Amino acid sequence: MSDNLKPAVLILGAPGSGKGTQGAVLGQIPRFYHYASGDVFRRLDTRTDLGREFVEYSKKGELVPDIFTVKLWKSHMDDIISSREYKPDIDILVLDGIPRNLGQTKMLEKHVKIIQVFHLSCPDRSELARRMRKRALKEQRLDDASETVIQHRIQTYEEATKPILDYYSSSLRHDIDASQTPAKVLCDILIKLQSLEAYQQIAGEATE
Ligand code: ADP
Repeated sequence: MSDNLKPAVLILGAPGSGKGTQGAVLGQIPRFYHYASGDVFRRLDTRTDLGREFVEYSKKGELVPDIFTVKLWKSHMDDIISSREYKPDIDILVLDGIPRNLGQTKMLEKHVKIIQVFHLSCPDRSELARRMRKRALKEQRLDDASETVIQHRIQTYEEATKPILDYYSSSLRHDIDASQTPAKVLCDILIKLQSLEAYQQIAGEATE
């Protein structure tokens, strides 16, 4: 990449659409690094100020303020760059759960260059809620356990996150039916990914 912006693909979708499942698989592929904003928040020590803030917002199904969210992202990036876990000149970031509104989108623009947006589309909101209830049992997530919080998160997605889709040019955006099996969703993502010039360039350089 010629500029100093980190190449990134963005997985965008409502809670329960499968962002985390897909992001985790992509993160296993050489030259990809998966950043899941919610996971990084959940790993915070809840005795710290930010850890406590996170619990307060997430249990109500609300977004953590942008300033904290982007600061946490930046500090995680700085850590993985210094540990060489992630190499900004040759790795592609897989952003999952961030940016989540237009404010964060603009803040991240100073650091990343979005080369593709994958929109995991699931118009059937009851299917999303069903997946979250199932996840609540498996992962003990407070914010998946309450019906009111689930509905509030879906609403927040509609109001704050979905407008990001129109911010990017339609040529950057690829809509995928998130109600398909996880394997089929992954297949659709991979077909698109491997056709990207930026990916071919990075993958090609890595094998030279
Ligand atoms: P989901 O996509 O299922 O809602 P996440 O694990 O991505 O779950 O996020 C869980 C919670 O973490 C969110 O409801 C929110 O409180 C907080 N969070 C995660 N990412 C962000 C973000 N980019 N901005 C603000 N809050 C966030």
